[in-house]
Amino acid sequence: MRDLLDLSFDELSSVLTDWGEPPFRARQVWEWVWKHLETDFSRMTSLPQGLRDRLGAKFRVGVPRALASQTDGEGTEKALLALGDGQAVEAVLIREEDRRTICVSTQVGCPVGCSFCATGRSGFVRDLTPGEIAAQVLHFARELRPSGERVTHVVVMGMGEPLLNYAATVKAIRNLNDGRGFSLGARRITLSTVGVVPGIRRLAGEGLQVNLAVSLHAPDDALRGELVPLASRWPIREALGAADLFARATGRRVSYEYVLLAGVNDRLEHARALARLLQGRLAHVNLIPFNPAPGLPYRRPSEADVDQFRRVLVAAGVDATVRRSRGVEIGAACGQLRGLPPAKVPPPLSGTGPGLGPGRQPGRSPGPQRGRRASESGPCGPRSGRRAPATGPRWRSGRGAYPPGASSPGPSSGEATP
Ligand code: SF4
Repeated sequence: MRDLLDLSFDELSSVLTDWGEPPFRARQVWEWVWKHLETDFSRMTSLPQGLRDRLGAKFRVGVPRALASQTDGEGTEKALLALGDGQAVEAVLIREEDRRTICVSTQVGCPVGCSFCATGRSGFVRDLTPGEIAAQVLHFARELRPSGERVTHVVVMGMGEPLLNYAATVKAIRNLNDGRGFSLGARRITLSTVGVVPGIRRLAGEGLQVNLAVSLHAPDDALRGELVPLASRWPIREALGAADLFARATGRRVSYEYVLLAGVNDRLEHARALARLLQGRLAHVNLIPFNPAPGLPYRRPSEADVDQFRRVLVAAGVDATVRRSRGVEIGAACGQLRGLPPAKVPPPLSGTGPGLGPGRQPGRSPGPQRGRRASESGPCGPRSGRRAPATGPRWRSGRGAYPPGASSPGPSSGEATP
């Protein structure tokens, strides 16, 4: 059975035209799925019964079931989402003031193999489909909707390297951006890459106004090759050249991500070299102090060292902020996400759930948590804004909860800022 979320609007129209349906049906179905977040064809009451039955026989709407979820008490929630083949990925909801950002994964595992990342240490399993990528957003959108909240931003910074799963990632972004349905502005979407040069160049030509984040993590190719093995295929100069092309094509400033590892890439000479690389570019640097994860042989630098690193960049005229990681306590921050090993997990949710159709009234909620505004990207954010009082991690009780003391039920797979 095909996943309707894998289809573009035009592909859906083509299917319905082949079935002899009038042209307006495609828009009706699209709105049910992408606007009203309905997963059950039988609840799509504006469609004729025959079409509902036919859709139900041929398609599912693959919004995944959460196998487990975990919150940090500050508005960050990590969910382990089941895929149809027994794999699972993690996605993160970050609540911060008026923002509701979803960090999504694009692959199960990751082939890049960054030495400081839980995902990278676990190897690569497979690419996600367009539907599986977008469905992570829809999962949280359905969760937020009863309280009147909406997803405001998406960051493609979870498990995997999105530009190594290019077609599926771009299709998912286009479907989320489509004004007939979910209608999330492209400028509210950030895609993070380790610098896959062909993918960046291709993205520059897509006509999409998304934000691009390039993960450098080192100012020279030798050190970068150690920290981000697969990225050594594309020298830093080539990656910067491709990012410049993207900036010219879109007019968008490029963000550069730099995970600070104590004693490895956080020295003053690294800061000076990074400043030399980025001076004069339409660029912003996000400095990310390392988030520890089990089995990773690195230390987080001191606040003083982090600040000194940032000052060197700023003094050289390079805009830089220190990103405050969100969800560290629950293993939801950059480099910490983990998934499940292959296991028997339930199939994607379809035809069940709360039935969030257009007639449904949103319920009351305690309102959004007031927290720090994080960055435009990921479960991490710069040091600014107000912070909600920390109440500590919470685990959803009962079946499907992450056990206290564990960041996830299984060995790694997981998320990181690529
Ligand atoms: S940091 Fe990103 S690109 Fe690197 S291994 Fe982890 S998920 Fe992959």
